[in-house]
Amino acid sequence: MVIEIANVDKIYHSEAEKIHALKDISLKIEEGEFISIMGHSGAGKTTLLNLLGCLDGISNGKLKIMKKDLDLVKKKDFPKFRRDNIGIIFQDFLFVPTLTALENVMLPLHFKRKKDANAEKKAKNLLTKVGLEKRINHFPRELSGGEMQRVAIARALVNEPKILLADEPTGNLDTKNAQNIFDLLKEINAKEKMTILVATHNKKLGKQAKRHIHIEDGSIKEDSV
Ligand code: ATP
Repeated sequence: MVIEIANVDKIYHSEAEKIHALKDISLKIEEGEFISIMGHSGAGKTTLLNLLGCLDGISNGKLKIMKKDLDLVKKKDFPKFRRDNIGIIFQDFLFVPTLTALENVMLPLHFKRKKDANAEKKAKNLLTKVGLEKRINHFPRELSGGEMQRVAIARALVNEPKILLADEPTGNLDTKNAQNIFDLLKEINAKEKMTILVATHNKKLGKQAKRHIHIEDGSIKEDSV
């Protein structure tokens, strides 16, 4: 089991009100699963991915990732735990605009305590794997939406994560590019046996995952294969 979620709640305390974004969520996820997380806007998809990505803490319940009880991992240790276990493809890329594609992919390796002598080679190999060997020296502004998404995938893979989380990775792409990106995720899942969770509004793509989880108003309404 790579992820175990038991009776998890997430409550945001905004100034005006308390928002119960996730309500009593329980899930067990095995190594190598490829899961789509679907649901309307505001259903809680990003909230769930943020908890799994250790970008935020749970309010109640239990969350175990790679058998580690996250209650026992101090918040200040979340970044290291994330670096060692989880790759994240963000909705809005978050590239450094003054760095090339290659440098952006290498960036997560700079934050490791032990410097990786093969950082550049690793990043080049990943950019080749996502079909961008001819774009490695381009800056983000010189890349198309589909190409940027490929760079984002390469960057998420550079630390060799066990779990890959993607939040609407095809949201800004046309149908063909969206399918290409989804195919790439399918290939990574099949070849590397990496556990992948993808939040998407796109039902046609979501159905291509091996397991489908529907969230409605913070609760799991359907969990099917
Ligand atoms: P979308 O598909 O539009 O991205 P989503 O399913 O990912 O939506 P979330 O972003 O998880 O939905 O939001 C779930 C609920 O929690 C929403 O009602 C949202 O307004 C609220 N929410 C999200 N983040 C915060 C926050 N930091 N503070 C307060 N409320 C928040």
